[in-house]
Amino acid sequence: MSSLSIKNLRVSIEDKLILKDLSLEVNQGEIHAIMGPNGSGKSTMAYALAGHPKYEVEGGEVWMDGVNLLELAPDERARMGLFLAFQYPTAIPGISMANFLRSAVNAVKGGNGNGNGHSIPIVEFRKMLTEKMELLRIDKTFARRYLNEGFSGGEKKRAEILQMALLEPKFAILDETDSGLDIDALKIVSEGVNALTGPDRGFIVITHYQRILNYIKPDFVHVMYDGQIIASGGPELAEQLEQQGYDHLLKA
Ligand code: ADP
Ligand code: MG
Repeated sequence: MSSLSIKNLRVSIEDKLILKDLSLEVNQGEIHAIMGPNGSGKSTMAYALAGHPKYEVEGGEVWMDGVNLLELAPDERARMGLFLAFQYPTAIPGISMANFLRSAVNAVKGGNGNGNGHSIPIVEFRKMLTEKMELLRIDKTFARRYLNEGFSGGEKKRAEILQMALLEPKFAILDETDSGLDIDALKIVSEGVNALTGPDRGFIVITHYQRILNYIKPDFVHVMYDGQIIASGGPELAEQLEQQGYDHLLKA
C-alpha cells in the first residue's frame, strides 16, 4: 500500500509565504477532506503538489513510494500516480475529448511514460474509454465533443472525472470540484468519484462548503487556516463546521 506523505511543506507565491509547515498523510483507500475559509491556502497546496511553476517550494518534502515528489517534474509526478482536478479547467478548442484523453493516457501510462516508445493501441484505448464511460454513466456522444468548449460546469467536472478514471491514479486531489455546480451536477460528480474510490486510491477532496460531503463520505476531515492544518477529525468535524462556521473554530 502507498501513502502520500506531506511533511512541513512551505510554499510561497510572489515572495509571500502561503503554506506554513503543512503536514498531511494520506493512505491509499482513504478519503481526506480539506476544508477551510477562502484564501487559507487550499488551492496553493494542490498546485504545489502538482508542480505548478508559480508556486515556489521553500521547504518540506512530499513522499510517495520512496520518492520525494518535489524533486520531480509535473509529468513525472503524474506518472508516479498523482492526479489533480482543478478548480478552473480551461477550454482547448479543436481537440475532441477522446483525442485529449488518449494523449493524456499515453503520456501518463503509455510508452511515452516508460520510454519504450509504445503508445496504447487505439482499439485498446477505445475499449478502456467505453468501459470507463459506462462505469460513470456518461453518454457516448460526450467523447466526440471538443474539450470544455461550451461545456456546462457539470460537464467540465465530468470530463475531469472521466480523465481520472482512465489514468487510474494512486492519489487524486480534487480542488473545489463542487464549486458552481447545481445539486444534480453535484450528485453526478459525486457518484463518479464514489465509483472510483477503492483500496488502490487515496483522495484529497478540497472544499469550502460541507455540501459535497453529503455525497462523498470522507474518512478524515482537516481544516486549513493560514497555510496550516489547524484541526483534524472524522466526518463529525465537517458537520460541526456546517453548524457553527469557521469563526467558532478559529476562536476556540
Ligand atoms: P484557497 O484555495 O484556500 O481559497 P489559495 O491557495 O487560493 O486559497 O490562496 C492562498 C493565498 O495565496 C491567498 O492570500 C491568495 O491571495 C494568494 N494567492 C493564491 N494564488 C495566487 C496567485 N496566483 N498569485 C498571487 N497570490 C495568490
Ligand atoms: Mg481554492
